[in-house]
Amino acid sequence: MVRIGLGRDLHRLAPGRRFLLAGVEIPCEKGELGHSDSDALAHALIDAVLGAAGIGDIGELFPDADPTYRGADSMLLLKTAFDRVKSGGWRVVNVDCVVTCETPKILPYREKIRAALAGALEADAGAIMVKGKTNEGMDAIGQGNAVEVLAVCLLERI
Ligand SMILES: [Zn+2]
Repeated sequence: MVRIGLGRDLHRLAPGRRFLLAGVEIPCEKGELGHSDSDALAHALIDAVLGAAGIGDIGELFPDADPTYRGADSMLLLKTAFDRVKSGGWRVVNVDCVVTCETPKILPYREKIRAALAGALEADAGAIMVKGKTNEGMDAIGQGNAVEVLAVCLLERI
């Protein structure tokens, strides 16, 4: 049996914050604003893997209001979420993600990001894809004030 999950996340971008995707820091004037380290790609993937397994979502597992998660390393949260998925008898078949932001460019960091996600999800880097897009100057994302990530994950029963 296979099952698919969809995750989505959006963070405001602000000066003085790190721009993180899957724990990979990308030099940029602005970074993601939020309660944890605000890694939008890790967050979208947490929802994708939990959704595919049908075991809840990021807000349930790691509540915003819980001071434990202030500044939390979101890749550790992703690993924790994936451990739950794995103990339910699932493995990752593949993952596909779209990161939308005006800057920075994702492509030069793509292989590092894929490797980081492959490590967290115990999958082959070849089964993980990440694409960068812009919003062509439209809306808050297009004006460089936010980053949005969409992620899908296919799981297979071991
Ligand atoms: Zn988030």
